[in-house]
Amino acid sequence: MRMPVFWKCVNEDCQDDGVYNYKGLCRTCTQYDDKGKVVNAVARVKTTKEGTPLVSNKVETRKAVTLQDFKDFRRQNRRLTHKQVEALKAAQAHTLGQAQQDMPEDVSDTPIDTQVMPIGESLGEEE
Ligand SMILES: [Zn+2]
Repeated sequence: MRMPVFWKCVNEDCQDDGVYNYKGLCRTCTQYDDKGKVVNAVARVKTTKEGTPLVSNKVETRKAVTLQDFKDFRRQNRRLTHKQVEALKAAQAHTLGQAQQDMPEDVSDTPIDTQVMPIGESLGEEE
């Protein structure tokens, strides 16, 4: 499910702090000539319902977006951490369980005595 996107002018001097549900130019900031033609277009940016700017592809806002991106990323990560830890624990328990079945817990303290049962001979005995 996608978060609903709203639009808002983020111009500091803007008198219009309304949040719109459609993209467009800010009526307050955009400058028109006397024929109604756009002279200086000021577009609204994507925001949340509360008017917090969302990630934008605009180059001039990339720096601010990066910080917001980073915050979002951290927040997202924090939210996922619990689930990830649970999944990780389950995976580790599974892996450890298999590893303990497959090999001695501490291999270095358990020397394999090749003198008693060389692998080649044990295979030969089974034939
Ligand atoms: Zn504006």
